[in-house]
Amino acid sequence: MAYTITNACINCDMCEPECPNLAISLKQPHFQIDPNLCTECIGHYDEPQCVACCPIDCVVLDPNHVETEDTITEKLQRIDSLS
Ligand code: SF4
Ligand code: SF4
Repeated sequence: MAYTITNACINCDMCEPECPNLAISLKQPHFQIDPNLCTECIGHYDEPQCVACCPIDCVVLDPNHVETEDTITEKLQRIDSLS
């Protein structure tokens, strides 16, 4: 499942540099996560870095982007092929 940022975001910019997939960017009205790039940090870290660093806990799992281990693995391979 990809993560998403709720409207509570205060645009502190702590999460954006922590994402290993460059999935986080500043949009209006607040930072957003590209679900096509979020892999829950699997393959890079033991825990989602955006969740770990957010000071107000406004990064949550996105029920609109439910995934299996297989689809996350496919996404990781696609992202790796781009780099
Ligand atoms: S969970 Fe990881 S990959 Fe997904 S947006 Fe957060 S930092 Fe990026
Ligand atoms: S760390 Fe949290 S509050 Fe700060 S920009 Fe990211 S989602 Fe928003």
